[in-house]
Amino acid sequence: MTTTENEKSCLVIGAGIAGLVAARTLVEHGFQVMVLDKGRGVGGRMATRRIGSAVFDHGAQFFTARDPRFEELVSEWRAADVAQEWCRGFAGPEGVAHGDGHPRYCGTTGMTAVPKYLAQGLQVLQEQRVTSAEARGDHWRVRTERGTIFTSHALVLSAPVPQSIAILEAGGTALASETRTALEAIRYDPCIVLMILPKESCVPTPGGVQFPGEPITWIGDNRQKGISPEAAVTLHAGPEFSRTHWDSDDHAIVSTLLSAAADWISVPVSEVQIQRWRFAKPTVLYPKPCLALSEPLPLVFAGDAFGEPRVEGAALSGLAATSAILTFLGV
Ligand SMILES: Cc1cc2nc3c(=O)[nH]c(=O)nc-3n(C[C@H](O)[C@H](O)[C@H](O)COP(=O)(O)OP(=O)(O)OC[C@H]3O[C@@H](n4cnc5c(N)ncnc54)[C@H](O)[C@@H]3O)c2cc1C
Repeated sequence: MTTTENEKSCLVIGAGIAGLVAARTLVEHGFQVMVLDKGRGVGGRMATRRIGSAVFDHGAQFFTARDPRFEELVSEWRAADVAQEWCRGFAGPEGVAHGDGHPRYCGTTGMTAVPKYLAQGLQVLQEQRVTSAEARGDHWRVRTERGTIFTSHALVLSAPVPQSIAILEAGGTALASETRTALEAIRYDPCIVLMILPKESCVPTPGGVQFPGEPITWIGDNRQKGISPEAAVTLHAGPEFSRTHWDSDDHAIVSTLLSAAADWISVPVSEVQIQRWRFAKPTVLYPKPCLALSEPLPLVFAGDAFGEPRVEGAALSGLAATSAILTFLGV
């Protein structure tokens, strides 16, 4: 499959918020764009899962909007009824909500509502794990695990940075040593997540508790949030717990975390599922909203590790990726 007939063609690796925002804005500027993602659905870490009729957001729980460009996107999503305000602050460990005036938004049917909306009308191919990207002549040659080849003039890599570096390395694409050093300095915390079906949740209004320490950083009630018809609780373990217990047996992890969360979840718990996010939240970031290279061919690294470690930062990075490509191609 090729996209190089059009001089303005771009492959975007990753259908998370950064990749989808970049793809949408490139299409608006007349680009032929193909988005490739290894996952079964779009959204990356904006992830929603069903267990029976219960619905869980198990990656990002909410997003804030501080930059006017992101506020504009959020207004569009709200008008399209895919995003809504959840609240203006969550409870702390003492169980009392602290409003600070800043809206916290969420997807209307779960966080994936937003990426699903962004993907409408785009060429997005799922279950396409990209294994290599090679600059050959005047085009990028991208290969997937299935052996399919895609080509384009420009390339946006929006996967977590270690995965993007591996894709280039496998294609024999060398990076200048200072670029490589800057990218290799980026760090992420892992996060172990439990999706819990309790008899009832005891999470206070408005449905989320933030904890400053370990072993738990967040407990969210997806029913109060308005996305689940029945009790469905999401629990995030802290980075230290997640790192220490990464390879532990699931039963041991569940039992330790449920004991620690006993005040917030009533027993009996009928089911628990576990998700491990290796690259959950960037902790050492690249200081700019993207890293753009014009040689050997237009290439942009984007995502939440560029600028700000959250949904808003990832979306702004997607916008920055588009601006960089427009500049490189003189559009
Ligand atoms: C548990 C957790 C809780 C969080 N809570 C919040 C929160 O409350 N608020 C907030 O603002 N942010 C939160 N975040 C962070 C937020 O989810 C991210 O900042 C944002 O979603 C990142 O978007 P992205 O597009 O940069 O990356 P991603 O969403 O990770 O997208 C990258 C995409 O690349 C794909 N990919 C990777 N490798 C390949 C490959 N080889 N081939 C093809 N595709 C590939 C992946 O499948 C993925 O879809 C949380 C994250 C986690 C994990």
